[in-house]
Amino acid sequence: MVKVFLDPGHGGKDPGAVGNNLREKDITLAVALKVGQILKRHNVEVLYSRTTDVFVDLTPRANMANNAKADVFVSIHVNSFNNPSAQGLETFSHTGSIKGAELAKDIQDSLLQAELYTKNRGIKTANFTVIAKSTMPAVLVELAFISNIDDSKILRNQQLEIAESVAKGILKNLGIKYVEKKEESKKEKELDTIKFNLHGRELEVEGIYKDNTNYIPIRFLEKLGYKIDWKDGTVIVDYREVK
Ligand SMILES: [Zn+2]
Repeated sequence: MVKVFLDPGHGGKDPGAVGNNLREKDITLAVALKVGQILKRHNVEVLYSRTTDVFVDLTPRANMANNAKADVFVSIHVNSFNNPSAQGLETFSHTGSIKGAELAKDIQDSLLQAELYTKNRGIKTANFTVIAKSTMPAVLVELAFISNIDDSKILRNQQLEIAESVAKGILKNLGIKYVEKKEESKKEKELDTIKFNLHGRELEVEGIYKDNTNYIPIRFLEKLGYKIDWKDGTVIVDYREVK
């Protein structure tokens, strides 16, 4: 099984770059976890340097990937600059690594295809610790500038699109065909039994519990003695029996 090592930048006491009410460490983790889910769906083994908000030093991140004999290493970061007009996407590979450069290009191209960005800063090489000390093809992607107002909106609102693009780039590099996720059908969802007590009456109604909210069919009012009718798309609640 192919192993991908995902490295969400920063964490714990190290927030990374901060700007526009966002912290780098939160974005890198959220995106990395989403990338991992997509890769797992494609039968890729996914390893992480962290899956929670904890501090991990740089060399141990590379060592973890080396010890696990990961096939590729992808470090996820966001950029920042003191001039807030700086923006865009750039991906780094370790200087001299041809396979690393190919991986960087695959991820960069995939992100650009999603058309989230206004600026392509290109693929570059660098000697950042995590990609220098990893022994497999390794890249570090700087998703966008947290210090730029437009980029910060992408980082805040389009994490899933970013993650899909990063995952697609990795999969392409590994020669694995990307498969769209099947839409979760609402009809297939089993109904939940929602129990509640209304004015002292114990009731059980079939409904849906989603996002911390109970949804119950309006027919449940019949249990309270109301007459429910439908006319021209309108629900008519007619009367209440006096008990
Ligand atoms: Zn960073």
